[in-house]
Amino acid sequence: MADIIQLLPDNIANQIAAGEVIQRPASAVKELLENAVDAGATEIKLIITDAGKSLIQVIDNGKGMSETDARMCFERHATSKIKNVNDLFHIRTMGFRGEALASIAAVAQVELKTRKADEELGCYIEIENSVVIKQEPCACPVGTSIAMKNLFFSVPARRNFLKSNAAEMRHIVDEFIHVAMAFPQIFFSLTANGEQMFHLEAGNLKQRVVQVLGNQYASKLVSVKEETDYMNVYGFVGKPDAARKTRGEQYFFVNNRYIKSGYLNHAVMSAFDNLINKDSFPLYALYIDLDPTRVDINVHPTKQEIKFEDEKIIYAFVQAAVKHALAQFSVAPSLDFTL
Ligand code: ADP
Ligand code: MG
Repeated sequence: MADIIQLLPDNIANQIAAGEVIQRPASAVKELLENAVDAGATEIKLIITDAGKSLIQVIDNGKGMSETDARMCFERHATSKIKNVNDLFHIRTMGFRGEALASIAAVAQVELKTRKADEELGCYIEIENSVVIKQEPCACPVGTSIAMKNLFFSVPARRNFLKSNAAEMRHIVDEFIHVAMAFPQIFFSLTANGEQMFHLEAGNLKQRVVQVLGNQYASKLVSVKEETDYMNVYGFVGKPDAARKTRGEQYFFVNNRYIKSGYLNHAVMSAFDNLINKDSFPLYALYIDLDPTRVDINVHPTKQEIKFEDEKIIYAFVQAAVKHALAQFSVAPSLDFTL
């Protein structure tokens, strides 16, 4: 009997893989912003049209790419961030899977402009359905600009699956905020349909948290800071009287990566026990730094779910850090230190 198994052509394989990485405009926003962070940018601009359905563009002043890398970056599993399996356990970058740009190129029309500091001319590449359709030298600033147009233009089923512009824009703003809150030392801006929504000057953590959450929170934050050899926890919790009836601003970052964790949320809630009503939610932006070998971020393609080597230690530590901060605050409410 004839053999029937074939390897899928790259563009089909890429499109299938893209389903996992790029579910909606916001997923692409996250990947592009993280690439700009990994490139060492100090300024990152996000431009959106039609909630990302027509245009998502990220412009950074990072290290840029060589001409060869500019082509390579769209290949699947093409990454400059890990080289061997050992590196997987010491990840310091946001990306490492080498899948984002391949996925993006499979589901949108992409225009890349990039230049390294030691090169006079940059490189312009246009790509569609994973195929380079134009490449030429171009004059451009040092750094990288990636514009992706007409997301899912070749996958109408997915395009139709997208929600209203308002809903997709909310997801985009969430992703933008998560990255901006993790890197206060980087300037970020977000312009949507020609209007500037965020203009976040580089600053310290407290400044960034207040820029993002709103000035009304400036006087509502209690600093959290606890350090051990195992891990550091720092950031802010809202004063008990800032707690609200709806689950509002609650953020965890582990090694600069926004994560979701019902388990750690519980640790914070329990630290607030007796201080707030049972039916209200405290505000918090908490940052946990620990040895990357003690956490596995490779559990899910979007890396929002992670696995700690020892969850119980982290739980107890976060709970203690928040309790300590709240206790200090109730003894001396004016005590504050800026991170
Ligand atoms: P990953 O981030 O997991 O490595 P990506 O597909 O997102 O995979 O990117 C592939 C590679 O392209 C990166 O490893 C990096 O070398 C390069 N790259 C992507 N975006 C940028 C950027 N904004 N500036 C410089 N290099 C970039
Ligand atoms: Mg990436």
